[in-house]
Amino acid sequence: MVDSGDFMTKLASIKPWIVPREERSLAQGEYRQTPAQLGQFEQFSHCINCMLCYAACPQYGLDPSFMGPGVIALLHRYNSDSRDAAKDDEDHQHDGLRNEEWRLRLRWRQRRQER
Ligand code: SF4
Repeated sequence: MVDSGDFMTKLASIKPWIVPREERSLAQGEYRQTPAQLGQFEQFSHCINCMLCYAACPQYGLDPSFMGPGVIALLHRYNSDSRDAAKDDEDHQHDGLRNEEWRLRLRWRQRRQER
């Protein structure tokens, strides 16, 4: 049996939905994007939440507080979407991931210095 609880908690923490820059009524139509704007995140929108990367990720195995590849991919997907305003929102729930991102950067830099 697969326990998806940790993944779902971390996924919800990044608000995996578009927070519109401006509210539009149905009569105003869809939120439009150019092909170039779509290209900024399209690859990252293909995540199907299968959690295979969690099973394979050695970092997640070592540190359960790590957000994991799937959640980070989806965070990038929403932050790269021109229709989304959450990345500019001070109150957005990305602080935990920002901390994690900085920890990863620090580890990367430390490993580079060790070489
Ligand atoms: S990023 Fe992870 S959860 Fe998403 S499709 Fe790839 S393996 Fe599955």
